[in-house]
Amino acid sequence: MNPILVLGGGPAGLSATAELASLGAPTLLVERESYLGGNPKRWHYSLLAPDLRPAEEVMDPLLERVTGRPEVELRLGTTLTKAERTATGFSVALRSADTTVTREVSAVVLATGFDHFDSRRKFEYGYGRYPDVLDFKELEGMIHDDKVLRPSDGRPPKRIAWILCVGSRDVQVGNPWCCRMGCAVSIKQAVEIRQKHPEIDAYVYYMDIRTYGLWEDLYWKSMQEYGVKFIRGRIGQVTVAEGGSRLIATGEDTILSRPTEVPFDMIVLASGMEPGTGTKQAAELFGVPVGPEGFLTPRLSDLNPVDSGIPGVFFAGAATGPKAIPDAVTEGMGAALRAFQYARR
Ligand code: SF4
Repeated sequence: MNPILVLGGGPAGLSATAELASLGAPTLLVERESYLGGNPKRWHYSLLAPDLRPAEEVMDPLLERVTGRPEVELRLGTTLTKAERTATGFSVALRSADTTVTREVSAVVLATGFDHFDSRRKFEYGYGRYPDVLDFKELEGMIHDDKVLRPSDGRPPKRIAWILCVGSRDVQVGNPWCCRMGCAVSIKQAVEIRQKHPEIDAYVYYMDIRTYGLWEDLYWKSMQEYGVKFIRGRIGQVTVAEGGSRLIATGEDTILSRPTEVPFDMIVLASGMEPGTGTKQAAELFGVPVGPEGFLTPRLSDLNPVDSGIPGVFFAGAATGPKAIPDAVTEGMGAALRAFQYARR
């Protein structure tokens, strides 16, 4: 049997690869970056919501199940440049550095993941201009290293605000969808910071809180046990005062129906999820459908969310839309089994 190609080495791709390896299927795992682990590794995720489990406890076992396995051929720093259907599957061209190789594969799992919204596109929040306006993926690394300090002067902040829905639910930037994770991750970050540094005040500006399912518990705990304060409102802009040492969040409190202008030491933007780099190209090469948002579209998203509708091509993880790590891992397993069935037909 020719190997099954898994495109993408994040949680979904790792899960698919591990599952295929456990079935004894030869698997070709291709990742464009020089490392495995996707966004959790890239941004040094700290604890994962809602169980507050260290990200390493989830990612390391996945990585161990994939690396050093005889069934798995790993190609890092490699991109897919061509795909053609053959009698037994696909012929694919893979480019790394200056070299291109052609390989025959029996089936394909597209696990191209997501990219965080580039918060510089919300110019009014000052990300990229004011050093103490951070993206929440950057705060993850600070929390992970237990170094929550203002980038501008290296001092610990006394007041931090989170702004939710940055680059999500926002037709102005072309992203009307909900990122599904921004509320839970921001609340989790506020809880982590209050646990370690109760002297830091934490404020969350929200339109509405979407901590779906069992994650709602963390929302209530954050208020009742950790004193995180929630303000329903829209922040219109962030400016600087006191010679740049203070950030001012200006907007509207939509419960009190009045304008607000509040000083903070640090502001954290909950940036949304967009289709991962390589998703569009992979969709074009394999001729699979893409929705208006740019995510891959399963043929029957309710009945079989991992089937593309194109024989031999399967989907896993956030390539089809914003998704939590457990969902991405589950879809990786499902896509692996469907790809294995197809390759053995
Ligand atoms: S999950 Fe929360 S932060 Fe993300 S878009 Fe939905 S409501 Fe906004």
